[in-house]
Amino acid sequence: MKLFHNTATPVEPYNLLIRFHNQIGAVVDVTGTRDSSRWTCHGCGYGDGLQHVDSARPAASRHAAECRAAYHRLDR
Ligand SMILES: [Zn+2]
Repeated sequence: MKLFHNTATPVEPYNLLIRFHNQIGAVVDVTGTRDSSRWTCHGCGYGDGLQHVDSARPAASRHAAECRAAYHRLDR
């Protein structure tokens, strides 16, 4: 089984608003627009749907502060 190491910095999405790093360096991105954004953790695959960036930013920041995942295989 081959695992993708998600601490390698992914290409910056065109609609990136904020980029955090979790405890081991995997990227947690907030993307979209100020009024309609979502956040996604590339370490564990968790994230949340459309919301104002004022809600997405603290949620992504809290997740990044707690998450220690480097890999996920949730794309299967
Ligand atoms: Zn995570």
